[in-house]
Amino acid sequence: MRKKVGSLDIYKYLPKINCKKCGEKTCMAFGSQLIERKVELKDCPHLKRESLKSLEEILAPAVREVVFGELPVSIGGEEVLYRHELTYFNQTAIAIDIHDEMGKEELSKRIKFVNNFSHERIGETLTLQAIAIRNRSGDAAKFEKCVEETAKRTKKALILCSWNFEALNKALEIIGHKKPLIYAATKDTWKEVGGLAVKYNCPVAVFADNDISELKSVVNALQRMGIDDIVVDPGSRLGPCTLQLFVMLRRSAMDEDKVLNRPILGVPAAVYLQGGNGLKEAMAASLMMAKYADLIILHNIEIWALLPILTLRQNLYTDPRRPVRVEAGIKEFGSPDENSPVLLTTNFALTYYTVASDIESAKVDCYLIVLDTDGIGVEAAVAGRQLSASRVKKAIDETGIGKKVRHKKMAIPGLAARISGELEQLCGWKILIGPNDSSDIGKFIEGRWKA
Ligand code: SF4
Repeated sequence: MRKKVGSLDIYKYLPKINCKKCGEKTCMAFGSQLIERKVELKDCPHLKRESLKSLEEILAPAVREVVFGELPVSIGGEEVLYRHELTYFNQTAIAIDIHDEMGKEELSKRIKFVNNFSHERIGETLTLQAIAIRNRSGDAAKFEKCVEETAKRTKKALILCSWNFEALNKALEIIGHKKPLIYAATKDTWKEVGGLAVKYNCPVAVFADNDISELKSVVNALQRMGIDDIVVDPGSRLGPCTLQLFVMLRRSAMDEDKVLNRPILGVPAAVYLQGGNGLKEAMAASLMMAKYADLIILHNIEIWALLPILTLRQNLYTDPRRPVRVEAGIKEFGSPDENSPVLLTTNFALTYYTVASDIESAKVDCYLIVLDTDGIGVEAAVAGRQLSASRVKKAIDETGIGKKVRHKKMAIPGLAARISGELEQLCGWKILIGPNDSSDIGKFIEGRWKA
């Protein structure tokens, strides 16, 4: 298994003169930031060619990173098998499929959907990254027209999907400069399709159905042509065989296999189109993302299927080293005045955004004190003393909430009820026990707060 790179592995190749030109105070700090991918080797002007080469080798991720598209999408580039060992860097890119036999209206609807799709969750905007254009007709001219029309209407990254070399060739003549992902090179077409990848300097996906050794030999052949930006597709089914293949591929990358260290493409759309349905496709997408798919192609764009997939992706790609948190302090909802309620919550992002959205839905004018609990949720923060009477008192003093309202009454989360007595004694405010679930805030304000 690949050895984890540490700061000292990097430091020995750095100039060790602490000149600060890279923006870091020391070479050691620069080394740490390199591992975190927050700086780049080019940021140090003093690196000698040999050191640069060694550092490039040490820092090369276990899974090669591939970038494609006009609005560039980075996939792969991962260092670890399990997220908790470090973090995952590039989230699974999601593409929606269209094809060259689709009616104009449907085509236009799907392109618009991808362009405009945006969903806010825990302070992050979730979007779709790419459009996969399928040559369903098998006809090169039809495919060319569809690709041309699509490229005019979107800047999203494109994936050109055809088994017909001529169709790929014609499409690349039009949009090769936009760096689409070419899909796919197979054991029968690798030479011709590889030639297109070289000519247009585009990444290429290799497809070998349920056959890792065939996949490896095609990747090998493309490598010998000088192509490095390669994505692998071992075939997609809803079942254990696909997942086993995905896991084998990712394990190979972690074992420093320099052929199979490639981003993995999963095609849940194949599950849908082979007589499945939206639910089965969503299940396939979820399983594939959990087991290392770096890029997936979906067919179903119904929101009930997309939102769970996007939510799962967001959770998988959260950095486990940093709790997702928001800024602590005092937030105002609606138009609060000196008689408005004062509520308390933690700065764990998921808690904060849920509470904020429930207050907005209930249309309550109020103040919300967001306590710095190191990004930990209510129950765990009470247990760990990040949500304690003394911390809440400090927040009351620092936020100056006492000057904004004429009363001295505050509602704390129901799950923090056990600190209410100590808190009342310490700060002299009347403490109300709020609901366990913030969706009951509206009822709580109308009932217990006003009683
Ligand atoms: Fe060290 Fe290079 Fe940064 Fe200067 S620019 S501090 S030599 S890493």
